[in-house]
Amino acid sequence: MLTLGIDIGSTACKAAIIKDGQEIISRGLIQLGTGTIGPREVFALVLSNAGVSREQIKRVMVTGYGRFTFEEADSQKSELSCHAKGVNFLFPTVRTIIDIGGQDVKILKVSSRGLLENFVMNEKCAAGTGKFLDVMARIVNVRVDELGEIGLRATEEVSISNVCTVFAESEVISKLSANVRIEDLVNGIHRSVAKRVSALAFRNGIIPDVAMSGGVALNKGVVALMEQELKTDIMVHPDCQLAGAIGAAVLAYEELIKDKN
Ligand code: ADP
Repeated sequence: MLTLGIDIGSTACKAAIIKDGQEIISRGLIQLGTGTIGPREVFALVLSNAGVSREQIKRVMVTGYGRFTFEEADSQKSELSCHAKGVNFLFPTVRTIIDIGGQDVKILKVSSRGLLENFVMNEKCAAGTGKFLDVMARIVNVRVDELGEIGLRATEEVSISNVCTVFAESEVISKLSANVRIEDLVNGIHRSVAKRVSALAFRNGIIPDVAMSGGVALNKGVVALMEQELKTDIMVHPDCQLAGAIGAAVLAYEELIKDKN
């Protein structure tokens, strides 16, 4: 039995197809967020990657910031429930999830069954989010997926004192004109994100095991500094950015089973 989860985010659309609630058989990611053709494209992509038609999918669940705009789905659920379930599917021992997406940061506590117990979220501000990193990558003239490796090559850390993205942007430009090494500057940018997110995480308490999800979990520089700030190991799955979509597909399967009984 096949179920499909789709996560319509602020910057990227993700989708996954799961067989019998147990095995991921297809993945899709389109670098376009809500309000674009991203949702339709990722839906078509994940079906074609699996070589199946819409009719072969028993249930589709949608989640994410743009979930109310997608009409192909049979049901919808919040990102919080879907991330909790998705990370539990990837790493069943995880109790604390640090999810850094394009526009928000969430710290979730989950049960051993992947049920959300509580959460904290950032204020409406880009500091500590993927958006902050996207802006900084543009200024230092590298791709966002290159930041992690660049930051890991640093020998020093150029501290960024402004938390606000707009002010930090000016600060980074002035550091660039002072001829600092890009690696050291990127390391400082990552520290700014790690400090901001770990302060939020400490507010909710850290229960091991800890995992990161969302696109920023793919940035190895941020993950390494988060481990330093929180003084704990952090698990990162290669499918970390797809966690919400995977959780939606698993929850769609659970709904089907419940309907049958
Ligand atoms: P949303 O669900 O809000 O669209 P995502 O969880 O997909 O957000 O994360 C998007 C963010 O992840 C981007 O803003 C970017 O900073 C970061 N990101 C995306 N892909 C990568 C990558 N390959 N390496 C490092 N960071 C990435």
